[in-house]
Amino acid sequence: MRALRSAAPGPVPRVTGLLGTGLLVAGLLVAGLLGGCAPGVGPSAGREDPAPGSAPPASSATAPSGTGPSGTAPSPGPPSGDGSPTAPAEPPRPPELDDPVSLSVVVNKRRPLVPADWAPPVLEDVEGHRLRPEAAAAARGMLAAARADGVRLRIVSGYRSWAEQQETYAGWVARKGPAAADVVSARPGHSEHQTGLAVDVGEGGGCDLQVCFADTAAAAWVAEHGPEHGFVVRYPWGEEAVTGYWYEPWHLRYLGPGRAQELVRSGAATLEEFAGLGPAPDYPAAAPG
Ligand SMILES: [Zn+2]
Repeated sequence: MRALRSAAPGPVPRVTGLLGTGLLVAGLLVAGLLGGCAPGVGPSAGREDPAPGSAPPASSATAPSGTGPSGTAPSPGPPSGDGSPTAPAEPPRPPELDDPVSLSVVVNKRRPLVPADWAPPVLEDVEGHRLRPEAAAAARGMLAAARADGVRLRIVSGYRSWAEQQETYAGWVARKGPAAADVVSARPGHSEHQTGLAVDVGEGGGCDLQVCFADTAAAAWVAEHGPEHGFVVRYPWGEEAVTGYWYEPWHLRYLGPGRAQELVRSGAATLEEFAGLGPAPDYPAAAPG
């Protein structure tokens, strides 16, 4: 049984010795870059460009939490036909997994946002960062609860628009080429931060967005209490072959308290597994860059 909480900072602090720590730091620095979480890695870091494209109807912006597939395996069925050539056949799945308006949407390297330049109709500020209203309210509650427990917790990054991601990615392509760019920057339309439902948290110290965040009280707290507020650690330790990203104890995804706690109870290690979706280790070969 692999619960998300088992991916909390356990493995990292167990590494002893300067060499091991150094290697781990180097590896997780890359991991942070892989996830596209580090705000300072791109030429347009810190920009707040409005997203292009039209906004979807606001009337459907309140997808209920706690709905959708359970952690049990869906009944067998024919392949959906829209997967990548190398992805295993997937059973039929609820449409909300594809709907960026839904709190249940799943975005990864095999599942871009549709449309790619989708932007949340409404964003709210949380301590200088933008999130969709549902996630913003939950984040405020989570920050307050952590601080009530004596844990330092802050928002490091929230929503990033298609335009922000595109400029960042294009900058990396221009400087390093497409292959290297994919290692350090998410392609626009493929970043979970574009949903407005992902948030990077930190404690305001030098370990924010770094490997050593895994060893902080803040990381332990969010791994344990995040689901109560609707947030799960989206890229758990050792699941990069499924999620496409190395361990990111700071990157939380809002699902709503019902669905987040259902995921934990199910024992699923990843959102992909919980949703009955195939792994997304990398971009399909034919994906537009
Ligand atoms: Zn992130």
